[in-house]
Amino acid sequence: MSRIAYVNGRYVPHGEAAVHIEDRGYQFADGVYEVTAVVNGKLLDNEGHMVRLERSLGELQIDMPMSRAALGVVLNETVRRNGVRFGMVYLQITRGVAKRNHPFPKNVRPALVVTSKRAPLLLDPDAVPGGRAVTMPDIRWGRCDIKTVSLLPNVLAKQKALDAGAYEAWMFDPDGFVTEGTSTNAWILDREGRLITRPLSNNILGGITRQTMLRLARENGIEVIERAFTVEEAKEAREAFVTSTTNFLKPMTQIDDAVIGNGEPGETSRRMLGLYAAYCHEATAA
Ligand code: PMP
Repeated sequence: MSRIAYVNGRYVPHGEAAVHIEDRGYQFADGVYEVTAVVNGKLLDNEGHMVRLERSLGELQIDMPMSRAALGVVLNETVRRNGVRFGMVYLQITRGVAKRNHPFPKNVRPALVVTSKRAPLLLDPDAVPGGRAVTMPDIRWGRCDIKTVSLLPNVLAKQKALDAGAYEAWMFDPDGFVTEGTSTNAWILDREGRLITRPLSNNILGGITRQTMLRLARENGIEVIERAFTVEEAKEAREAFVTSTTNFLKPMTQIDDAVIGNGEPGETSRRMLGLYAAYCHEATAA
């Protein structure tokens, strides 16, 4: 099945999908995006993604290009046209096309692009591989809570991690506290068996997977504390992992040169992935 993209009102072959060179997303990174997982052909936690999308747009004073319901139809139709049962759907909304000039242009319609692709969903707690995180200073801006397409510091940090043979970069603030991964939220399990993750603020993206994991942990009697933790604390943690829409949960079995636990995905990490997997299937079964 050939890939189809949605671009400003039309479904077009992926290879021919294009936006104008003066789209403000292209020129100023003036736009936002969302990635939603597709499980059993259905959008997982799409409500949460829509709430976050509307918040991101609101912070940038960009209008929704259509109603939330209409956008849901476009997302589902793009998934359907690409024959995706397991994978993801990506949407990007930019301020629109206008002559290049910094101020917000007047009477410009926001531009909407949607793509969808298949991806393996790693939901088996007994088969999930661990990975290594390397730490580096967080050089991003002061509004990391907005899901903008302005991802250059994230891209640079991720490439640095890959070049070091690692899976993810954990970025830290000037006080040595971990903010998050380049495209993931960061978690540790302390010596007392409590899950710890940084509270929401302007310094991190409020992950939808993070939100669901928090709920699942609390519903299942796993204590969670939302507080910042340092790189040093992470290196001495019993377990560590990252969460995101495309990863779900991936154990971090090494941070820089420190081996976490026995170097294998830990019991609580695997339990959390198991709970998440059950939730995914339940939420998309009907
Ligand atoms: N932090 C950052 C910087 C991200 O880019 C992402 C993924 N987009 C996340 C966290 C995880 O968010 P979610 O669980 O909604 O995918």
